[in-house]
Amino acid sequence: MTQMFEKILIANRGEIALRVIRACREMGIKSVAVHSTADADAMHVRMADESVCIGPAPSGQSYLNKAAIISACEITGAQAVHPGYGFLSENASFAQALEDHGLTFIGPSAEHIRVMGDKITAKDTAKALGIPVVPGSEGGVPDFETALKVAAEIEYPVIIKATAGGGGRGMKVARSPEELEVAFRTARSEAKAAFGNDEVYIEKYLQKPRHIEIQVFGDGKGKAVHLGERDCSLQRRHQKVFEEAPGPCITPAMRAEIGKICADAVAKINYIGAGTIEFLYEDGKFYFIEMNTRLQVEHPVTEGIFGVDLVREQIRVAAGLPMSFGQDDLEINGHAIEVRINAERLPNFAPCPGKVKVFHAPGGLGVRMDSALYGGYSIPPYYDSLIGKLIVHGRDRPEALARLKRALGELIVDGVETTVPLFHALLAEPDVQTGEYNIHWLEKWLEAQFGK
Ligand code: ADP
Repeated sequence: MTQMFEKILIANRGEIALRVIRACREMGIKSVAVHSTADADAMHVRMADESVCIGPAPSGQSYLNKAAIISACEITGAQAVHPGYGFLSENASFAQALEDHGLTFIGPSAEHIRVMGDKITAKDTAKALGIPVVPGSEGGVPDFETALKVAAEIEYPVIIKATAGGGGRGMKVARSPEELEVAFRTARSEAKAAFGNDEVYIEKYLQKPRHIEIQVFGDGKGKAVHLGERDCSLQRRHQKVFEEAPGPCITPAMRAEIGKICADAVAKINYIGAGTIEFLYEDGKFYFIEMNTRLQVEHPVTEGIFGVDLVREQIRVAAGLPMSFGQDDLEINGHAIEVRINAERLPNFAPCPGKVKVFHAPGGLGVRMDSALYGGYSIPPYYDSLIGKLIVHGRDRPEALARLKRALGELIVDGVETTVPLFHALLAEPDVQTGEYNIHWLEKWLEAQFGK
């Protein structure tokens, strides 16, 4: 199909549903919101052209209810579904089910989602496509003897990871053969309990890496580009809290090299739409850890420095249209930073849902607030605690940092506690000001501030 969709259903909620509705509206496409009974008053329902209630509050019965979402497409005449991030965005059988019903999934093929969803096939595929990977076992490790052999070859410390893992779970570090025995056994039993699959594999454990991810975009017909990197090293429990682009430690030459490797790799498999290839980066080298076959939470920092609308582009290629930019059109302009604002109480980050009495979003030059909050809204307790993303853009990193501080000061969310104080404190840290941090920095800092 090379005709633009008339109506798109958004199978998500919160700020990302709004983000997609905004792109639809600018493109003259009608939008359909779906919602649970707990979200009847949510902003995405108000903002969309139409809405359909698809089930009760628990997401398993609503936002993850494939049959209800497909029925909602049929009732409203939506021709395509944008899944946002989370929920069904990396669910291969959902992408397949839509196709079987003559609907378009705005995202990659079910096959690409499947291959990248399994950590071992993802790593094998990446390696075969010329992407540098972390040294480790060839596929799964069946027994402790093999684990010992692999660990001796790649040298300690090593990390044992669950093939079916996700969300930072099922990983164990071992620094000696003795530790390996315990780690191997517990990683397997935890993987079995958490994912119903006890297959594990082994990798070299990198001690002080940064998390650097490359944004790629393909047209599904063998053409692909990269949109540079994002540095998302500031993490708590493997969850990103602060993301920036470009990466403070990445030179233009390094970006061009790793970017080309990634773009060529996805071009080779006719990848369609947005994707992110995640790396650990240490001592000048990149090591693949996984690929996300969807739009990322932190995509706005990339949009900020390149001035492109990634959602619009996703919709275009899903409709069979060519990409509206090529590699040569993409030039970095300035620096962008995103902070994730959660309704959480510090220092334990306990979820803090409830009624928002007053909400005031910051504004001014270079400030973007992606949020579905409004004054009087009650944040339901059933979903993710992300209530907004504050994204700033400046001509350079110091300007972006100053703008972030200024914008955080303008933000008002009365009635619930948020992670805003965390960002005020982080911005005062010399390491954050200079961009000298790795994936362990934030955990160590939190421990020093608040203890365990
Ligand atoms: P998940 O899918 O569970 O998020 P990932 O493979 O993406 O798992 O890894 C999550 C995080 O675990 C990484 O961002 C990094 O902090 C840490 N990690 C994973 N592999 C390694 C490794 N080989 N060395 C050091 N840290 C690692």
